[in-house]
Amino acid sequence: MTTLTRASGELRLEGVALSEIARRFGTPCYVYSRAAIEAAYREFDASLAGVEHLVCYAMKANSNLAVLDVLRRLGAGFDIVSGGELARVLAVGGEASKVLFSGVGKSEAEIDTALSHGIRCFNVESDQELERLDAIAGRRGVKAPVSLRVNPDVDAGTHPYISTGMAGNKFGIPHARAIEVYRKAAKLPNLRVTGIDCHIGSQILETAPLEEALDRVLGLVDALAHEGIALEHLDLGGGIGIRYRDEAPPDIHAYGRRLVERVRGRNLELLLEPGRAIVGNAGVLLTKVEYLKLDKARHFAVVDASMSELIRPALYDAWHEIVEAGDTGGRPRETYDVVGPVCESSDVLGRDRALAVRPGDLLAILSAGAYAMAMSSNYNTRPRPCEVMIDGETAHEVRAREPISALFSAERTLPR
Ligand SMILES: *Cc1c(COP(=O)(O)O)cnc(C)c1O
Repeated sequence: MTTLTRASGELRLEGVALSEIARRFGTPCYVYSRAAIEAAYREFDASLAGVEHLVCYAMKANSNLAVLDVLRRLGAGFDIVSGGELARVLAVGGEASKVLFSGVGKSEAEIDTALSHGIRCFNVESDQELERLDAIAGRRGVKAPVSLRVNPDVDAGTHPYISTGMAGNKFGIPHARAIEVYRKAAKLPNLRVTGIDCHIGSQILETAPLEEALDRVLGLVDALAHEGIALEHLDLGGGIGIRYRDEAPPDIHAYGRRLVERVRGRNLELLLEPGRAIVGNAGVLLTKVEYLKLDKARHFAVVDASMSELIRPALYDAWHEIVEAGDTGGRPRETYDVVGPVCESSDVLGRDRALAVRPGDLLAILSAGAYAMAMSSNYNTRPRPCEVMIDGETAHEVRAREPISALFSAERTLPR
């Protein structure tokens, strides 16, 4: 569902013109559509109808409290990767019983806090993590709910930086060792083995590898049942891709129905952990053109957003569509590299873009709802932009622009 439209030349998100957002809140600014987030969540949820299921939003994609709260109200669970993310879920009144804790390096303090809140499940990634979890649960006198993240060794066909399901990767327990590690988990006194999970990568555009991963994991579920280890849930992770340029992302509904077919009648709750597919195309990064540099071999549009606010092009060579937010009045387009003010040659937001722009004009960088603000930094002492959520005709500031003084308020000079 797209809630981004153009009416008499002006780009609007839901019922609000982006130029109006820039006037009220300044630039750069992240702008999110509540309706788009809700529609994406509902599509996942509805696709799994007919089997017990829970869609756990992978909140590392965008952890703004307003985003979490919108999803919490729809009944979403949350996939977290840190104690900080758990604190955010609790801050919006999210139920710990709907929280999955993923990640390869959970600290003792993070595990202890998550146990104290009674989260739904720990997605464990190693033998050593099992032992650590067992010891901490023992000290607390509780049984920790455990799923093992199995590495199914399938190729998700995605960028190496965001592929996680192959043998040479730091994530998960090798498929060949899974049964042995489950036996060990089943013997540890302070653990309760409840599930199995995998997550094979991100921005996946074909569902075949995901379905192959499901089949491999179901094979393990059956083998474990033979050993008397009965699992209650299967978590197939996230990773469904979105359209940034001309990709053809999978149809969520059809994907969900195929998963349901495979698990129906097995008495297994089905969990998914989508991140990007829920929020990616629900947001834009609004930026203003500061200068046009036309005296070089390439022409540059220097804008007030940068790799500090959107690192994906610099980090993954990712492509984000960049469009004029206002009416171009039919002026001819010229080719620019859209670059930011940061002192790095990699601070490029888009190369060779045909745009009709003058200094002061607004540009919208699309598909900036996921892994944009969440991966932002203060490099070059740049305050993080504000975040705005549109709800119908109304724009709500859901995070204020950082004041510059806050960027160094925790710092101290040496004593004299
Ligand atoms: C990052 C991550 C996700 C979400 O990935 P998307 O590509 O954003 O859907 C889900 N599960 C785990 C374990 C992850 O690390």
